Amino acid sequence: MSVREFFARFPNDDACLVHIMNVRFGGTTMDCPACGVEGEFHKLRDRRVYACPHCLHQIAPTANTILHDTRTPLVSWFYAMYLFATTRHGVSGKELQRQLGVTYKTAYRIGMQIRTLMGKADFDGLLSGHVQADEAYVGGRRSGGKRGRGAPGKTIVMGMQEEGGPLVTRIIPDVKKPTLRAVVNENVEKGSVVSTDELMSYGLLEGDGYVHGSVKHAAKEWSRYDYRQGVTHSTNAVEGFWRLFKASVRSTHVQISSKHMARYLDEFTFRANHRERMNAMFDLMVAAL
Ligand SMILES: [Zn+2]
Repeated sequence: MSVREFFARFPNDDACLVHIMNVRFGGTTMDCPACGVEGEFHKLRDRRVYACPHCLHQIAPTANTILHDTRTPLVSWFYAMYLFATTRHGVSGKELQRQLGVTYKTAYRIGMQIRTLMGKADFDGLLSGHVQADEAYVGGRRSGGKRGRGAPGKTIVMGMQEEGGPLVTRIIPDVKKPTLRAVVNENVEKGSVVSTDELMSYGLLEGDGYVHGSVKHAAKEWSRYDYRQGVTHSTNAVEGFWRLFKASVRSTHVQISSKHMARYLDEFTFRANHRERMNAMFDLMVAAL
């Protein structure tokens, strides 16, 4: 969907409201929950409300959503969701401010709420099959002072990706063995093959019922075939995600505090999981409202 197609599909708030009716109620024609008679609900003028043609029972499509009390036009919210779905490197508050013509404060709030939506709409389950797991240090100071792992304000994150399947990311407090072990146990089905770097020592995950193998990043080993298991271990896919995430955060956002890191992670993880289906991303976000 191009920008032109977006605005042809959603020219005004009424068009957005119809779309929400479609996603939440399967359309504007339905069995009335009050009188039970089927009919086409009509929109009340100047209100985000539809009414039953028989008994005038009212339905507010935005009820219990972040859009209910907003003074920002629905088109602006939809366009913001469109921008989040179509970007590769994320959307900064300044960019949203300019595109939507709202204050920075409003733009920032809209951005954060859309990131929350993306988190809600994403894969929620156990990974299985062959899973790569790799940790990374993200965020913190942009320039000056120390860089890398010990830099102030860094957040430690763990990414786990099923081969040909979803990616799951989590913030972890440290890289101690019990922490690494717990995050795998919570997100990966027992019996799966797990590939990690050397931080996860041999035997740790085997005891939990996984088939485990590791590559030695310190020795610049990126992939290793285990003859005993018949499996090639690598964490390249997850590392690629962390590279994109770090580069995007550096170029798009000045600084992300640990407090807000989870929402940015949700944003990038959701996009990585749905990048082949841009329109589906948009609809999933609306459904998550
Ligand atoms: Zn009715």
